[in-house]
Amino acid sequence: MNRVDLPASIRAIHEQAEKKRALGAVVFDFSAGEPRLPVDPVIERGVLEAMDQAQSIVSYAPVAGLSELREEAASWIRREYQASYSAKETIVTAGGKFAVYALMQSLLGSLDEVLLPVPYWPSYPEIARLCGASVKAIVSSQRRCWKVTSEDLDRHATAKTKLLILNNGQNPTGTLYTEQELESLLQWAKQRGIVVLSDEVYSEIVYDHKHYVSCSSFHEYRDNVAIVQSCSKNFGLTGWRVGFAFAPRHLIDALITLQGASTSGASTIGQWAALVALRNAERISGRVSNEMCKRRDLFVSTFESLFHETLSPASSAIYQFISMEQLGISSRDSIAFCQSLMEEVSVMVAPGRLFGAEGYVRFAFSEECRKIEEGLLALYNYCRRKKS
Ligand code: PLP
Repeated sequence: MNRVDLPASIRAIHEQAEKKRALGAVVFDFSAGEPRLPVDPVIERGVLEAMDQAQSIVSYAPVAGLSELREEAASWIRREYQASYSAKETIVTAGGKFAVYALMQSLLGSLDEVLLPVPYWPSYPEIARLCGASVKAIVSSQRRCWKVTSEDLDRHATAKTKLLILNNGQNPTGTLYTEQELESLLQWAKQRGIVVLSDEVYSEIVYDHKHYVSCSSFHEYRDNVAIVQSCSKNFGLTGWRVGFAFAPRHLIDALITLQGASTSGASTIGQWAALVALRNAERISGRVSNEMCKRRDLFVSTFESLFHETLSPASSAIYQFISMEQLGISSRDSIAFCQSLMEEVSVMVAPGRLFGAEGYVRFAFSEECRKIEEGLLALYNYCRRKKS
């Protein structure tokens, strides 16, 4: 890959958006990975009640998380996905991202290799490299629905392979693995003693009556699986910074030590919000998922009628991953495209290169409805101009 300073180029796009907003311009933001919904009134009320009992929010929570929340999270993942984790096999973290970070820090050494299906959430390779580990990218394709198989893994594994990262309910493609596909990957990993980090932070945002299968539901593989969850996407609480890891006790104990020596855990007030969210999980995540489904449908139908191109609607999460070819753009330089799009028509999207897939762009369809329509029109006019 060309040594472009990726974070700096993305920062430049965000800075330009900030400048435009400060001047009063409308920015169509298809780049932010969050549901962008108001906080559910029940969570708001629950947090206000917790604030009335001042002691419950001004103090440090235990490093592993409030005991009520660990219990509730273990019971939620059991109810939803037939998992079998106890509260002691559960840790509350400052967002799902810290759970990913802490797991990799606990599992990886500098000689280890990580198998990473492409496209990927950009934090995985960044964190692996911070751990000193090396990343083996397993390239997939749109034709194969962006999935990898155990044969693909086999071709890339070596004696140094320690970890496989699976992101089911995938960012940036919205891909969902089936039960059989997951079982085959888990079986492959277990036979080789490779740990599977299963990032399931979009598990509740699933469309078209599809069924989400969690790696936690395969009890025979639990010894070499760690699950990452979060309140950010499933319950629309990105800024509250509450996530979870579920794993065998020895691994959770290592995470508690690491958390005690670093963040001390998620904020106490955020944990109270998470507790209310989990106690009302079905209703709140149902609302997030329904709203995201409406926005996905609007995004897809508007795009298809403007561009006369067919999209495969995302099965989960909040993103459409679209090739630049479908936009009618002949270049494959996704960063230059995103920079120019921002500069000329104030449309903000994330370049595929960030996710390891050059020639694509990621659209978050969680933008408000009116701006989805106006933003796509601005995109279409821009692409038409570039073509002619
Ligand atoms: N995992 C994936 C695949 C994500 O897309 C994100 C956020 O974008 C996260 C984990 C982390 O989310 P948070 O730290 O807000 O829980």
